[in-house]
Amino acid sequence: MAYDNNNIFAKILREEIPCKKIYEDDFVLSFYDINPQKKIHALVIPKGKYVDLDDFAVNASNDEIVGLIKGINIVAKKLNISADIGKGYRALANISEHGGQEVPHLHFHLFGGEKVGKMVQ
Ligand code: 5GP
Repeated sequence: MAYDNNNIFAKILREEIPCKKIYEDDFVLSFYDINPQKKIHALVIPKGKYVDLDDFAVNASNDEIVGLIKGINIVAKKLNISADIGKGYRALANISEHGGQEVPHLHFHLFGGEKVGKMVQ
């Protein structure tokens, strides 16, 4: 699937629509999900134009891949849910149709602040 420049996260990255920002660096932007499913529900997205995790794995640079993984950890620490300073969390990426992905710009959901339950419901 080709990247859609008009997806909602592309608009957030271009600051055309607002978000509740948690963290930003050269590689990632993180903000709260508009429809939280747990006490803490953050999103971490790469700044590059990648549709999903498969696209990212094939086409992102090593720096971008490291930047995203590090970014998830930085955000978890900022939210006090990382394994070292908090009680942990779930990082989840939905991929394409069967994965239930709605926004076609790669994003990781971080769920925490409470027990998040079974892996698949
Ligand atoms: P997906 O189903 O693609 O993995 O998740 C997309 C997520 O984006 C959903 O959890 C949805 O609530 C969130 N979302 C959709 N539109 C917006 C928006 O405009 N702002 C924010 N902050 N989150 C959004």
